[in-house]
Amino acid sequence: MIEITDKEKCVGCGACVQRCPKECIALREDAEGFLYPEADASVCVECGLCEKVCPVLHPGESRQPLMAYAAVNGDEAVRRSSSSGGVFTALALETIARGGVVFGARFDERWEVVHGWTETADGLGAFRGSKYVQSRMGESYREAEAFLKSGREVLFSGTPCQVAGLRRYLRKDYGGLRTVDFICHGVPSPGVWRDYLKEEVARQCDGKNTVSPAPNCGRDALLEGVSFRNKACGWKKFSFSLSLSLPVGQGTKNSVFLCELLTENAYLRGFLSDLYLRPSCHACPAKCLRSGSDLTVGDYWGVCAVHPELDDDGGVSVVLVNTARGQEMIGGLNGVRLTPTRYADVVRFNPAVERSARVPAGRARFWALRRELGVIGAVGALVKDPPLWRRAAGRAKRIVKRILKRI
Ligand SMILES: Cc1cc2nc3c(=O)[nH]c(=O)nc-3n(C[C@H](O)[C@H](O)[C@H](O)COP(=O)(O)OP(=O)(O)OC[C@H]3O[C@@H](n4cnc5c(N)ncnc54)[C@H](O)[C@@H]3O)c2cc1C
Ligand code: SF4
Ligand code: SF4
Ligand code: SF4
Repeated sequence: MIEITDKEKCVGCGACVQRCPKECIALREDAEGFLYPEADASVCVECGLCEKVCPVLHPGESRQPLMAYAAVNGDEAVRRSSSSGGVFTALALETIARGGVVFGARFDERWEVVHGWTETADGLGAFRGSKYVQSRMGESYREAEAFLKSGREVLFSGTPCQVAGLRRYLRKDYGGLRTVDFICHGVPSPGVWRDYLKEEVARQCDGKNTVSPAPNCGRDALLEGVSFRNKACGWKKFSFSLSLSLPVGQGTKNSVFLCELLTENAYLRGFLSDLYLRPSCHACPAKCLRSGSDLTVGDYWGVCAVHPELDDDGGVSVVLVNTARGQEMIGGLNGVRLTPTRYADVVRFNPAVERSARVPAGRARFWALRRELGVIGAVGALVKDPPLWRRAAGRAKRIVKRILKRI
């Protein structure tokens, strides 16, 4: 029976929960806002299946990719709304064109991040773009298995540990399964995201960024859009953006658009300083391509040095081809410009492929301060501010944007 004694040793994939034949394991949120399995010993029949499917107890072999490419989707609208070069959408469209099903992470109606599936091109919009929050797997492994058993092709995308969890869960190599993960820095806490959103919306409602203060500020009713990777100021200097619709007076709406650079936004700064990553992300069992995925995608951060001719600051993906099936997937892609590149160059600029983030000095203090100051206050107290000139430039940009929006 699965029992979590060391939080670094559970990635929260939920493979054990979905595989248990007695349905006696449930995921519960801890004080940091992450989910962990808890088994009910009185129902457990000691079959051992939960341990067999756990990707932490059974990590894969470390690998080197067969090939590495820089990739740019030729569809500019798709690339703009994707986090890097838009290669995920191209892969997903190929699957849908063959009658397959695509799994990915999207927001639910409460702006929490969950895994789900779609079989339509329109449905892909919700998966597009990185959400810097750990997604809840729900029943996704069971659903993927049911599609595979019925003969449908499945493209499953997720973090490396989620892909590793799926492969352990299935315990069989289905011909119709294609998997794509990404170079993974780590996943922030869903609990911190929930609190941050509440604080940020309340801040906006206080009139800091609105034409006039709004009286009625229920979070769920007001949020219209969230992007962790808004490219308005470029791909490399990405921004966090949020659009809100505030009721003013007799049902009239006052739209608010918050757009803050990664160096200014409290949530992104806390994430990039590793203050609230899942503990397992500091001892990741899926580094070095151990997930078993067919393809690994990511941001090609070094592209301006390695292939300057490709870099227009609109976003370039890196694609690591890990298996023969991955090579087929890449071979069948339409409308994507692929340029062979060296794996060593990818790792040089994106060490997260092979190395886990270190536990920062301020992590423990963050949880204590969060209770006192909230998420925004705690990040402000622990993460050093960017230089004054950068803040001034950011503020000027925001003001211009607000004026343009009003016009
Ligand atoms: C938490 C997180 C950390 C990342 N860390 C790095 C990094 O250190 N270095 C790097 O190069 N790239 C990192 N990436 C990947 C990168 O941001 C892009 O997602 C990737 O380059 C693919 O971009 P794209 O343009 O092809 O497609 P996009 O449309 O941007 O990619 C979306 C894909 O990501 C999946 N996805 C989005 N959010 C989540 C989530 N919370 N959990 C699981 N799957 C999700 C979607 O299902 C979809 O398949 C990270 C992504 C996430 C979500
Ligand atoms: S040992 Fe079997 S019955 Fe018990 S919790 Fe694990 S999977 Fe469920
Ligand atoms: S890593 Fe996944 S399978 Fe293992 S205990 Fe945690 S949730 Fe269960
Ligand atoms: S860093 Fe590792 S453990 Fe953390 S989400 Fe990514 S793949 Fe999973």
